[in-house]
Formats: sequence, structure tokens, C-alpha cells
Amino acid sequence: MSKPKHRHSKERTRKRRTHYKAEAPAATKCDQCGQAKRPHRVCPACGYYKGTQVKKIETLEERKERREKKQGPQ
Ligand SMILES: [Zn+2]
Repeated sequence: MSKPKHRHSKERTRKRRTHYKAEAPAATKCDQCGQAKRPHRVCPACGYYKGTQVKKIETLEERKERREKKQGPQ
């Protein structure tokens, strides 16, 4: 294996790295509720995927109820 003849300057390295940028994640609209969601993922807002509900989305009250049931009376 050949070796580099000279080392890069910090400037050269940094100039190259100016092109490294984080891309915004791809987003599409949910067919069910219209919320923005990632493609090929279950909608986090309504739990639908390809027109069928595959995940139950709890409302705030339902979550509260479930928590109280879990903890029991105090
Ligand atoms: Zn949705």
C-alpha cells in the first residue's frame, strides 16, 4: 500500500468537510389524517399504515386512566 506523501493542512481537511451536512429527514403526508410523517412508517399521529389502523394511539385521558389503574388507589 502506498502512503500519502504529505499530510493535509487543517484548512484543507476543514474545507472538504464543509460539504458534510445533515439532511432533513424525508417527510410525506399521512393519507388518513394529513399529518406529516416519514415514508414507509406508521403514522405517529393516527396509527394508520396503508389505510388500516395498525397501532392504537391513546388520548391523554386514556393514558391518564391507564396510569392510575397501574398505580392503584392511593
Ligand atoms: Zn395519520
